[in-house]
Amino acid sequence: MTIAEAVREMTVRLEAAPVESPALDAEVLLAHALGIERYRLLIDGARPVDSEKFNRCRRMVERRCGGEPVAYITGIKEFYSLEFQVTPDVLIPRPETELLVDMALYYARPGADLLDLGTGSGAIAVAVRKNRPDIRVHASDVSAAALRVAKRNCRRIIGAVPIRFRSGDLFSPFDGKRFDVIVSNPPYVDPALKPSLQREIGHEPERALFAGDQGRAVLQRIIDSAESHLLPGGILLLEMGHDMRDFILDAGERHGYAVSVLNDLAGFPRVALLKRQK
Ligand code: GLN
Repeated sequence: MTIAEAVREMTVRLEAAPVESPALDAEVLLAHALGIERYRLLIDGARPVDSEKFNRCRRMVERRCGGEPVAYITGIKEFYSLEFQVTPDVLIPRPETELLVDMALYYARPGADLLDLGTGSGAIAVAVRKNRPDIRVHASDVSAAALRVAKRNCRRIIGAVPIRFRSGDLFSPFDGKRFDVIVSNPPYVDPALKPSLQREIGHEPERALFAGDQGRAVLQRIIDSAESHLLPGGILLLEMGHDMRDFILDAGERHGYAVSVLNDLAGFPRVALLKRQK
């Protein structure tokens, strides 16, 4: 069997499952099984596939057909042009979250202290620190397993662990400490939506996704307690649900923040920017 034939066979299998992007998934999984870059599948289409690797790919395709996200099968997800390791202990980084990184990099002055709340895989914290070694990055997560993944990503991507990772719920590890920028992609999905979500999401950690009060509970807690952790003029950047614009404007303004909401690349309200008055 050639590489081109293997891609075709895997695509047909994934089409039948069905999954949303069978050809792409087939290519990503086969390239991973063969240990090559995806573009090589085209260039080397006529080459024979090693049968052991082909069987490995078949097993991965079966997992994908069962609804597992590609990133948990390969253990890898690209975010902000960096390669992150992911396990089912962490949310798979989403492209729209790159907007949070853009904003954090834009607003953090040289030498700023930045906190990433609920860091998960470490995607935001590591992407910020990788691009701006001058920023002092702190990060927390309530899940010890997630923190292990985050530290590993930090070491792999930065080559050391210059980020201060702390275990604990939201601000609890940072009592009395103030930051220039606080950033978070907290759980904000309404648990009532659970039955209607893609089955892939069922493989991700529930506490990274769902929050009570129609998905607002954790965002509300962050907004309620951020003030005592922000320096004057500090910025709070929050990822939020596309239908939370009014809620965020109202919650932020009640705490005296100047609030604006930015849309993601799909055109949905996605990131709230709350600026603390001087
Ligand atoms: N954007 C994610 C989703 O809709 C949710 C991420 C989160 O809750 N922080 O699947």
